[in-house]
Amino acid sequence: MPVRVVKVKRHENLGFLERLYVPMIVKGFATASRHFFRNMRGFITGDRTDFVVQYPEERVDYADAFRGMPVLVALDNGQPKCVACGLCEFACPTDCISILPGELAGSGIERYPEVFDIDMSRCMFCGLCEEACPEEAIVLSRECEISTYERGAMNFHKEQLLVPEHLLKRRLDFLRAEYDRQSAPAGKS
Ligand code: SF4
Ligand code: SF4
Repeated sequence: MPVRVVKVKRHENLGFLERLYVPMIVKGFATASRHFFRNMRGFITGDRTDFVVQYPEERVDYADAFRGMPVLVALDNGQPKCVACGLCEFACPTDCISILPGELAGSGIERYPEVFDIDMSRCMFCGLCEEACPEEAIVLSRECEISTYERGAMNFHKEQLLVPEHLLKRRLDFLRAEYDRQSAPAGKS
């Protein structure tokens, strides 16, 4: 099920009615009431498809900008694209990434992560690791159902983090479009 992305306008300069405060409270109640009665009508008529996702049978197709758990991009040969430079580890504000670099003799790749762990119990899905990576080797996925009964199980190892590149295409295309937009001259984005 596709989701609708709502862009919220943030007014820095309040208008007269907004400064009066009470009209905005009334407006808030009106909005909440509208949704309440709309949902109530759907509940009574059985037409709930426009606002209720019957989870877990139905899943929302998150927007490309959605930030789920970080994963490692896997090349066609199954190896990580990561070159173990450590930039994501350095950028991570919660220190939840642990990398042990190794060398692949005779492979033409100087460094690779012998160990690449992310402690998801500390990760806050901020995306700084993704931004820091010069290789597009770590990206935020759509996966967010990672709850467990044991804290130790939240420490994801390299093998659990590897995802084939073609499955991450939407996120990678989104990131490339974002970088293009950010690097475009002013007025051209
Ligand atoms: S998403 Fe943020 S908190 Fe999680 S591993 Fe990346 S940098 Fe760290
Ligand atoms: S920044 Fe990218 S290439 Fe460097 S260690 Fe992290 S995932 Fe690997």
